[in-house]
Amino acid sequence: MLEILTYPNPILKQKSKLVSDPTSLEIKQLVSDMTKSMRAHEHGLAVAAPQVGSSLRVFVIEIDDKLMVFINPEIQKLSGKDVRMEEGCLSFPGKYLPIVRPNKVKVKFTDSSGQKQIIKASGLLARAIQHENDHLDGVLFTERATDKESELVLEPTL
Ligand SMILES: [Zn+2]
Repeated sequence: MLEILTYPNPILKQKSKLVSDPTSLEIKQLVSDMTKSMRAHEHGLAVAAPQVGSSLRVFVIEIDDKLMVFINPEIQKLSGKDVRMEEGCLSFPGKYLPIVRPNKVKVKFTDSSGQKQIIKASGLLARAIQHENDHLDGVLFTERATDKESELVLEPTL
């Protein structure tokens, strides 16, 4: 199982590269390893490839036992009202911060079978997509925090 890198590992700040062959054995293995690492953490509902040391544009999200694999994701539209909610990140163990994000997202990506998809998501899934997509650009949730004085350990809500 791959270890989850924690802040301030410099890999977390790198911009990830596009995946050239989404159905390759390398990507299948990466997705499988990422899923195992995510499931090994009690509050883990998503993980991005840079968090396991791979600077590739891949993340996985599992909400309500539904696993979704996003390869080369592109956020096409953010909409809905801005919602403030406590977020956690496996790279910041035990740390929760209130983050404001739009409630809806439209995202284009390639799934694990190589099919291109466009989905509209809202609520927790939309939030997770935005958080994980940020990881691919080397952006960490602490940089999205609106409330600098809230950078303390809050009780988990997820
Ligand atoms: Zn994170």
